Amino acid sequence: MPIYEYECEQCGVRFEKMQRMADAPLTDCPECGKSALKKLVSAADLDLAAPGGAAADALNLKSAREAADRKVIRHALARSEGNISNTAKLLGISRPTLYDLLKQYDLQG
Ligand SMILES: [Zn+2]
Repeated sequence: MPIYEYECEQCGVRFEKMQRMADAPLTDCPECGKSALKKLVSAADLDLAAPGGAAADALNLKSAREAADRKVIRHALARSEGNISNTAKLLGISRPTLYDLLKQYDLQG
Protein backbone atom coordinates (compact mmCIF):
# COMPACT_ATOMS: atom_id res chain seq x y z
CA MET A 1 0.00 0.00 0.00
CA PRO A 2 1.42 3.39 -0.87
CA ILE A 3 2.02 6.02 1.79
CA TYR A 4 0.61 9.45 1.16
CA GLU A 5 1.76 12.62 2.80
CA TYR A 6 -0.75 15.22 3.87
CA GLU A 7 -0.40 18.77 5.06
CA CYS A 8 -3.03 20.82 6.88
CA GLU A 9 -3.42 24.31 5.46
CA GLN A 10 -4.90 25.52 8.73
CA CYS A 11 -2.45 24.35 11.39
CA GLY A 12 0.43 23.19 9.20
CA VAL A 13 0.61 19.68 10.61
CA ARG A 14 2.15 17.10 8.30
CA PHE A 15 1.64 13.38 8.51
CA GLU A 16 1.78 10.24 6.45
CA LYS A 17 -1.03 7.84 5.87
CA MET A 18 -1.06 4.43 4.26
CA GLN A 19 -3.93 4.25 1.83
CA ARG A 20 -5.05 2.21 -1.06
CA MET A 21 -4.83 4.13 -4.32
CA ALA A 22 -8.58 3.72 -4.71
CA ASP A 23 -9.29 5.34 -1.34
CA ALA A 24 -10.63 8.87 -1.33
CA PRO A 25 -8.05 11.39 -0.13
CA LEU A 26 -8.41 12.57 3.46
CA THR A 27 -9.85 16.02 4.01
CA ASP A 28 -10.21 16.44 7.78
CA CYS A 29 -7.15 17.34 9.82
CA PRO A 30 -6.56 15.00 12.77
CA GLU A 31 -4.98 17.85 14.74
CA CYS A 32 -7.30 20.82 14.37
CA GLY A 33 -10.34 19.06 12.90
CA LYS A 34 -10.66 21.54 10.02
CA SER A 35 -11.31 20.24 6.57
CA ALA A 36 -8.10 21.74 5.21
CA LEU A 37 -5.89 18.80 4.30
CA LYS A 38 -3.85 18.94 1.14
CA LYS A 39 -2.32 15.79 -0.32
CA LEU A 40 1.34 16.32 -1.09
CA VAL A 41 2.94 14.78 -4.13
CA SER A 42 4.97 11.86 -2.90
CA ALA A 43 7.12 9.08 -4.24
CA ALA A 44 4.03 6.89 -4.18
CA ASP A 45 2.46 9.09 -6.85
CA LEU A 46 5.33 8.32 -9.18
CA ASP A 47 4.87 4.63 -8.58
CA LEU A 48 1.66 4.09 -10.49
CA ALA A 49 3.19 1.69 -12.96
CA ALA A 50 3.71 -1.00 -10.35
CA PRO A 51 1.24 -0.49 -7.54
CA GLY A 52 1.92 -2.53 -4.43
CA GLY A 53 4.39 -4.98 -5.92
CA ALA A 54 7.97 -5.70 -4.91
CA ALA A 55 9.17 -3.54 -7.77
CA ALA A 56 7.14 -0.65 -6.43
CA ASP A 57 8.85 -1.03 -3.07
CA ALA A 58 12.30 -1.02 -4.62
CA LEU A 59 11.43 2.11 -6.57
CA ASN A 60 9.90 3.85 -3.59
CA LEU A 61 12.08 6.87 -2.94
CA LYS A 62 11.38 6.91 0.76
CA SER A 63 12.33 3.25 1.25
CA ALA A 64 15.43 3.72 -0.85
CA ARG A 65 16.49 6.76 1.16
CA GLU A 66 15.86 5.04 4.45
CA ALA A 67 17.86 2.02 3.38
CA ALA A 68 20.72 4.28 2.29
CA ASP A 69 20.53 6.26 5.55
CA ARG A 70 20.62 3.10 7.62
CA LYS A 71 23.64 1.81 5.76
CA VAL A 72 25.60 5.04 6.11
CA ILE A 73 24.72 5.44 9.79
CA ARG A 74 25.72 1.85 10.58
CA HIS A 75 28.98 2.44 8.76
CA ALA A 76 29.71 5.64 10.64
CA LEU A 77 28.83 3.98 13.96
CA ALA A 78 31.22 1.13 13.25
CA ARG A 79 33.95 3.51 12.13
CA SER A 80 33.69 5.55 15.34
CA GLU A 81 33.20 2.45 17.49
CA GLY A 82 29.78 3.54 18.66
CA ASN A 83 30.88 7.00 19.79
CA ILE A 84 27.89 9.24 19.14
CA SER A 85 29.81 12.53 18.90
CA ASN A 86 32.25 11.12 16.38
CA THR A 87 29.50 9.42 14.43
CA ALA A 88 27.55 12.67 14.19
CA LYS A 89 30.70 14.47 13.07
CA LEU A 90 31.37 11.85 10.40
CA LEU A 91 27.81 12.12 9.14
CA GLY A 92 27.90 15.92 9.20
CA ILE A 93 24.83 16.18 11.42
CA SER A 94 24.19 17.30 14.98
CA ARG A 95 24.04 14.86 17.88
CA PRO A 96 20.29 15.41 18.48
CA THR A 97 19.65 14.72 14.79
CA LEU A 98 21.69 11.54 15.04
CA TYR A 99 19.76 10.44 18.13
CA ASP A 100 16.50 11.02 16.26
CA LEU A 101 17.72 8.94 13.34
CA LEU A 102 18.94 6.14 15.58
CA LYS A 103 15.55 6.03 17.21
CA GLN A 104 13.72 6.26 13.89
CA TYR A 105 15.73 3.43 12.34
CA ASP A 106 15.88 1.40 15.52
CA LEU A 107 19.67 1.30 15.43
CA GLN A 108 20.27 2.00 19.10
CA GLY A 109 22.04 -0.35 21.49
ZN1 LIG B 1 -4.98 21.17 11.06
